[in-house]
Amino acid sequence: MRRMRHIAISWLLVCLCCVYAGAAEQALYQISTINALMQGIYDGATTIESLLAHGDFGIGTFTGLDGEMVVLDGKCYQIRADSLAGEVAETTTTPFAAVTSFTEDMTFPVTGPLSLEELEQVIDARLPTRNMFYALKIVGEFDALSARSVPRQPPPYAPLTEVVKGQSVFEMRGVQGTLVGLRCPEFIAGINVPGYHMHFLRADKQAGGHVLGGTMKSGTVSIAVLSTFTLVLPQDPAFATADLTSTTPAEVEAVED
Ligand code: ZN
Repeated sequence: MRRMRHIAISWLLVCLCCVYAGAAEQALYQISTINALMQGIYDGATTIESLLAHGDFGIGTFTGLDGEMVVLDGKCYQIRADSLAGEVAETTTTPFAAVTSFTEDMTFPVTGPLSLEELEQVIDARLPTRNMFYALKIVGEFDALSARSVPRQPPPYAPLTEVVKGQSVFEMRGVQGTLVGLRCPEFIAGINVPGYHMHFLRADKQAGGHVLGGTMKSGTVSIAVLSTFTLVLPQDPAFATADLTSTTPAEVEAVED
């Protein structure tokens, strides 16, 4: 019995070492902070060309809060509030984004129907720790998906809590595509969104958005463990003078969940 337990513990350590060894090279590269975005700091901090030099997979938004961003397979897609979606020019700029060079550390099939919450629970059960960043590539078929986008804002910018009141919600049924997501640790509150944050890109890359809910029919979950975090702060007067402590975690959750 003791020997069995010893073997089990040894195997667990081997698994954890494999996961972390695979993670050693993987980093999350982030532009600005979620609290800055919450407060309406929507001017471009960097170009898509520069962003893509640091990763081929991730999520974010565009200057003026002009829609939702999906970076997938090295290409950057914009899903606008008028539901138009497509690849953007590399000269386009972003005020907030997070990318990684995606290399999966683990992958497994899922069979539903699973609500988004149930899917997150299935993933949570596979994670070695909640204190790392994870990139999630979930390719599959969805019975239903609810996604939103936000309309481009004119300056002076309204805070995100105001802008989402005018968001567009897209209800998709029987749709194939990829969830591009991050799972950030709780301790990152104020800098990024704690927990899951997923965007969707339909297989034809003509639709998607920030995911609000849905039901997954079946597919494959691939996870990259990210143990390095790089934060690039905007060199912008609006950022320099903002009180970035005044946004509460509850406000972020209301906007991003
Ligand atoms: Zn989002």
